[in-house]
Amino acid sequence: ARRLVEAVSEPCVIEGQEFRIGCSLGISLYPDDATTAEALVHNADVAMYRAKEEGRNGYRLYRNEMNLQDDRQRALEKALHEAFITGEGLQLHYQPIFEREGGRLHGAEALLRWHHPLLGSVPPADIMTHVERAGLLPQLDEYMLEQVCRQLAAWSAVGAGPIPISINLSARQFWQPDLPVRVATKLKQHNLQPGLLGFEIAERTLLDKPQQAAVVLKRLRRLAGDVAINDFGTGYAALGYLHELPITMLKIDRRFVQRLDGRQRGSAAIVAAVAGLAREMELRLAAVGVETEAQRDILGRHGVELIQGYLTGRAVPADLFASRYLASRSGLPESTS
Ligand code: C2E
Repeated sequence: ARRLVEAVSEPCVIEGQEFRIGCSLGISLYPDDATTAEALVHNADVAMYRAKEEGRNGYRLYRNEMNLQDDRQRALEKALHEAFITGEGLQLHYQPIFEREGGRLHGAEALLRWHHPLLGSVPPADIMTHVERAGLLPQLDEYMLEQVCRQLAAWSAVGAGPIPISINLSARQFWQPDLPVRVATKLKQHNLQPGLLGFEIAERTLLDKPQQAAVVLKRLRRLAGDVAINDFGTGYAALGYLHELPITMLKIDRRFVQRLDGRQRGSAAIVAAVAGLAREMELRLAAVGVETEAQRDILGRHGVELIQGYLTGRAVPADLFASRYLASRSGLPESTS
């Protein structure tokens, strides 16, 4: 199984472009694990999801207790499904993004939070896993789009705008042919000007099919403010294609940022290279996960323009965001915390 995973994961070159395909394997054996084809496939599927959860690009042999955990998983997914219908337990948090120089508020990133009735707060990485497993990505994306548009409209109505808010677009959402039309309709429904809503898309999503991605991006840019590549530097670095993508911003992944003030030189070199690239291509450059002054200073030396991280502000619910960061621009009450 290991050799199979490795063989599938070997990079392949198609028309001069290198592609990497990941692979996770689940294995269930006849007759120990099940005696019917249906049950064997089901158990292999359960084992495959376990392989994915444990870091992808691996394999797992089915074990009986996996099915028990699978029941728990199903219950969680059902609860999440209901949450998307009723909205109960779901909340958006907004993390401020600041201009590094001068500290002016640039905008915010919207991030999903879920409070399970029994389990309490579910970590966002786990929410995303459940969402993906349960096939709830369309619901998530629709929910985020609607909630962010509502929030933008609410803040504009009290004079707290315009404040651009960005949302993460999953690969699945990004490739929906009707996405630009849906975004345009939402903006219209909420009476929002183009330019307030921003999008963050994973590097991998864009670089998998750069030519087709460019077409989608072009349409989104007519509606959106910033269109950013998220987690920049973690993907396949098919830099040759970058200039063909009509994006406006690169966001440096927090893994690089957090290693900046340590002794490892590699991260600083990557930040310097990305900064050079952003300058050359006239793209905005943001860094995510900035926790220390030292990191901010180093990023400053490389000309990083926008800062997002615990140093300047965590993601908080809308009312707290408004009282902390928007009150001075509007009639909103100021935060006392
Ligand atoms: P992301 O889009 O890269 O979001 C930034 C993540 O970095 C957030 O984690 C944020 O809380 C965290 N972060 C920001 N500053 C710091 C810092 O200084 N230190 C540390 N340690 N972390 C910091 P969060 O909210 O846990 O979200 C994780 C990921 O989950 C997001 O990464 C995004 O990929 C995904 N996600 C969250 N909400 C959504 C959503 O609504 N839709 C989609 N498609 N993905 C989402």
